[in-house]
Amino acid sequence: MLHRRGRRRIPQACVLASPGATHVRRSGPCPGWDRCARFWSDFAQERHSGGTVPDSHRCSTAIEAHCSTGWFDGRMDVLILGGTTKARQLATRLIGEGVSLCTSLAGRTKSPRPIPGPTRLGGFGGIDGLKEFLTHHEVKVMVDASHPFAATMHDHAARACRDLNLPLARLAPPSWRTQPEAASWHWVNDHDGAAQILVEMPDTILLTVGRQPISHYLPLGPRHVIVRCVDAPTEDLPDGWTVLQERGPFTLDREREIFSQGVATLVSKDSGGTDLDPKLTLAAQTGVHVVMVSRGSAPGWGDELSTIDDAVQWVRDHEPSSAEK
Ligand code: NAP
Repeated sequence: MLHRRGRRRIPQACVLASPGATHVRRSGPCPGWDRCARFWSDFAQERHSGGTVPDSHRCSTAIEAHCSTGWFDGRMDVLILGGTTKARQLATRLIGEGVSLCTSLAGRTKSPRPIPGPTRLGGFGGIDGLKEFLTHHEVKVMVDASHPFAATMHDHAARACRDLNLPLARLAPPSWRTQPEAASWHWVNDHDGAAQILVEMPDTILLTVGRQPISHYLPLGPRHVIVRCVDAPTEDLPDGWTVLQERGPFTLDREREIFSQGVATLVSKDSGGTDLDPKLTLAAQTGVHVVMVSRGSAPGWGDELSTIDDAVQWVRDHEPSSAEK
């Protein structure tokens, strides 16, 4: 059966209006629906006031539909694991093609950027929870477009899809390893390795690894460190550390402003891309040392894709109802 937008009317009884979301609805049994409804109305209000989502309101079955012309009945052909620009771009393209999908966010960021189409928020509850979600919502294919450093999510996605024999693609920008500048960087396997090598590197250190791995760097102690991240770290930071709360992407001019605060060492993850990030370009131009944290190895199930075009084509090839278009 096709689950395409516009094929069914939305029963008014199932519609919950909330700021930023035109429709939130369900059909069929949903044991957590009351919580879902409370979750989304509170979440929408708090998102508008810049607050956080209380854990008690998180519900893995909650689904939000942003599209005013669309409909959503809890089933989907494609599940996108999101939290990245690429995931948002893919959702935009597929929604434009009328594909029935849902984007899943971990809920780490307090104010996520809006994503076209239905979204859900929060962990699935491990591999078994993910398998239950995929089965319950009759998902046909999954695109793991979560960040290349979301290693646990990659692993869970691969194992759940392998167990259910579900097609899986991982969408991630290509590693920066092949860039000419990469040969001059200090490559390390993980954040502990980065912290170790930083003992010998000059201040000021610009940490651009996000807030989650910050605990690995705390043993550096009092130094001149700038932590750049979207949401502030929860840890107490040593003397001399400052937090720069900013959301990328950053222009070369903005990077120049930040580097002018005496940055001598840059720490980055190999998030990758077809081009270097402006911060890496600037580091190469100014002789700033670069410590680069490598990606983990890919899990053994699923296709590796690096462009949105490839991902759209992959969905067309693997999503069963595409053949009926
Ligand atoms: P992780 O360590 O690989 O995953 C930890 C747990 O978070 C997963 O087991 C899963 O919980 C939940 N989770 C992760 N991604 C999810 C998603 N898209 N939808 C639902 N649940 C998800 O992940 P992470 O490194 O904390 O990253 C979390 C999110 O932030 C991801 O969506 C990722 O795309 C985004 N992000 C990460 C980074 C990074 O550097 N790691 C950078 C930018 C954005 P359950 O086991 O309960 O299912």
